[in-house]
Amino acid sequence: MGPLRGDARIVGFSDIVDGTRIAAGGLSDFATGLVNPSVRLGVTGLSRAGKTVFITALVNALLKGGRFPAFEALSGGRITRCYLEPQPDDTLPRFAFETHVKALSGEARHWPESTSRISQLRITAEYTPVGFLARNLGSGRIHIDIVDYPGEWLLDLPLMRMSYAEWSATTVAASRVAPRLAHAGEWHALLSSLDHVRAADEQDAISSAEVFTAYLARCRKDDVSLSTLPPGRFLMPGDYKGSPLLAFAPLDVSPGTVFTKGSLGALMERRYQAYVSTIVKPFFYGHFARLDRQIVLVDALTALNAGTSAVNDLQHALADILTCFRQGSNSILSNLFGRRIDRVLFAATKADLLHHTSHDRLENILKVIVADAMTRAEYSGADIEVAALAAIRATREASVKQKGETLECIVGTPLNGEALGATHFDGATEAAIFPGDLPSDPEKALNGSLEGSLKFVRFRPPLPKDGAWPHIRLDRAMEFLLGDRFQ
Ligand code: GDP
Repeated sequence: MGPLRGDARIVGFSDIVDGTRIAAGGLSDFATGLVNPSVRLGVTGLSRAGKTVFITALVNALLKGGRFPAFEALSGGRITRCYLEPQPDDTLPRFAFETHVKALSGEARHWPESTSRISQLRITAEYTPVGFLARNLGSGRIHIDIVDYPGEWLLDLPLMRMSYAEWSATTVAASRVAPRLAHAGEWHALLSSLDHVRAADEQDAISSAEVFTAYLARCRKDDVSLSTLPPGRFLMPGDYKGSPLLAFAPLDVSPGTVFTKGSLGALMERRYQAYVSTIVKPFFYGHFARLDRQIVLVDALTALNAGTSAVNDLQHALADILTCFRQGSNSILSNLFGRRIDRVLFAATKADLLHHTSHDRLENILKVIVADAMTRAEYSGADIEVAALAAIRATREASVKQKGETLECIVGTPLNGEALGATHFDGATEAAIFPGDLPSDPEKALNGSLEGSLKFVRFRPPLPKDGAWPHIRLDRAMEFLLGDRFQ
């Protein structure tokens, strides 16, 4: 079980006071929404899941067009014009779309810099509505506000319902079982030397935070690939890098511990509470609670390759995420402002690392993972869809005959420094790679049998063709997330 599972409702009565704080953003959304319809699309996923690449490819598709048959408004020619506009929230950094396109273009092209904090981009679309009446009313215009934020921050939301002592006890308990245990040695050694009743010492708090963060980072590495590792800002600090707000860590205490004034426990508790009230709550009310649609990108392939623990932890992470999207969980906000997330897409990214014969299988595996997470979260809420996609397809396919056997391979240019077994790639030579097959029975993939069996390398990004990058099923994702808004 992940350390922070719980069916806590994210918004409760005591949060109404905090809820009023969203008024600035929420009310202005509401007022402007009356004049110009808008849709706020949240894009999230853990670090390296593919958020930056997804947003860049999606915005580029809207601006430049391309082959997107399943996105009817675009393929049917009803979207007549799209352009970028100044974003509505002056306090948010702008998503660096142009910089990312530049990174992905030309001979020296490379993958863009990944998401490390929240950012936003507004794209305005003009379109011809479907239907006689609507058509006679003239053309439609909609603002699409894309909000990119680290999934690590979303996994912090359950902290709003936990005391410092409860969080400490759960986190320490989880670190005492495999696979976390193998990576917790240094932190456990430090933990055993700290007593919560000793006098508060800033140095203890700082070194605890450093050693605890190093433990979280080890649990996140590809070969372990755990997902539920809050506090999210420890791995993804955003603008809080080096801030005293992050100078705390769990202590080895029982969930009901009461800390005495001036003690190390009291100092850690105060910092934890400040983290929740200054970082987690404002993120929830200021950004998350104002979204209409959400895509959660999942690097399922890395988790499957890392084994059962990683897949189980992913399931727990998705269940935590689903509690945030539960119908009514942000009902105070939806009552006030008419906003609520009504569609959520879970998407397994980088499907181009597999042969197309495995794409449906990847989708089915994610379906089972999400269905399990839905049961755990006793979920009933927004419409949920699942997809396997590649926002930018870096490979093509080929059948290779080897020792009388035909292997369905993918072909691309592995990045310089990538290696498979004894083969090292130079960044210029194409290679055909047999990545392995996913089993047709999704349950088989979830029992850890794939551990270490898939062969992945990072490929050089492809050049755009007629302005757009090749992709896998990006159009289906766009249709689900945005299609109905162009009716
Ligand atoms: P973020 O941390 O969620 O913003 O992740 P990025 O979008 O920066 O993606 C992380 C890395 O994953 C990229 O640098 C690419 O190497 C890889 N990646 C992301 N999307 C794709 C894709 O569609 N196909 C392939 N082959 N690789 C991808």
